[in-house]
Amino acid sequence: MTVPRPEAWLRVVPGGLWCEPGGFFIDPTRPVERAVITHGHSDHARPGNRHVLATAGTLAIMRARFGDELGAAQALDYGATMTIGDVRVSLHPAGHVLGSAQVRLEHRGTRVVVSGDYKRRPDPTCAGFEPLPCDVFVTEATFALPVFRHPPADQEIDKLLRSVALYPERAHVVGVYALGKCQRVIALLRRAGHDGPIYLHGALATLCELYEAHGVALGPLVPATGAAKDDLKGKIVLAPPGATHDRWARRLPDPVTALASGWMRVRQRARQRGVELPLIISDHADWDELNQTVDEVGAPEIWVTHGREEALIHHVARRGIRARALSLTGFEEEGDA
Ligand SMILES: [Zn+2]
Ligand SMILES: [Zn+2]
Repeated sequence: MTVPRPEAWLRVVPGGLWCEPGGFFIDPTRPVERAVITHGHSDHARPGNRHVLATAGTLAIMRARFGDELGAAQALDYGATMTIGDVRVSLHPAGHVLGSAQVRLEHRGTRVVVSGDYKRRPDPTCAGFEPLPCDVFVTEATFALPVFRHPPADQEIDKLLRSVALYPERAHVVGVYALGKCQRVIALLRRAGHDGPIYLHGALATLCELYEAHGVALGPLVPATGAAKDDLKGKIVLAPPGATHDRWARRLPDPVTALASGWMRVRQRARQRGVELPLIISDHADWDELNQTVDEVGAPEIWVTHGREEALIHHVARRGIRARALSLTGFEEEGDA
């Protein structure tokens, strides 16, 4: 019996990455009968599927966002195995956000790992990435250029706290993506000893509560809406990146505008967005970590999804690893970086 090539049973079709012998899509870009979801970011998790398999954390995030539009949900614990059709499926921590998972597929002895989005730095708000040996490793490439080397997140948090100490008359408004970045920045601030109240834009409250309900302690959080302008002097206010420059921000006393994102490595982007205090804090692997991960999983073959595919493909090919671009569409790079 010949073993079918993985591209014969796992391939990109309209709607996304389709696993034929299992009859399911992974992170489909339109509603499907059966979906396996890596994590709750809106370009990976969408409403309207009939059946959804994910970790309990991801399902809770999807339920909070989609309500009844979530579909029939089934939770699978990290490390537990389930057989769907002719495929053994298991989920393993990806270290990206709460509930984020790599999907491990095994079909007729061939192991494919679809990593979704991932990072390698420790994150107090989610389980750490586990490298899984496999025959094909499917990786993102958001920051797959040698210029992207993220500094230690603690160093960036210190930068923020130093600025807060320097300008006690000003508020610091930090743009953070609502799912993951927000809670990670809060947890990092707590770890750095900042134990006073942190103010939140209303759009961030639900997911912070959800994290706390999943055992991630975030300390005192206060709604920024309704707080007196004077009370916000010398305080840290978190808001979605789009809100830091809009009408909402006018309530803040002479705000220092910060943004927490891997893209802040690119000074021009920080300038374009009017960011006074760029904080390079990313929930994605940087260039070194992408290559380190490829080495650790030991796969002879790599498939690259969204981001800068060419550089990574070229780089691993020089080490004798077969690599190709999957050309998946529908994934944004800006939002959750
Ligand atoms: Zn993501
Ligand atoms: Zn993504």
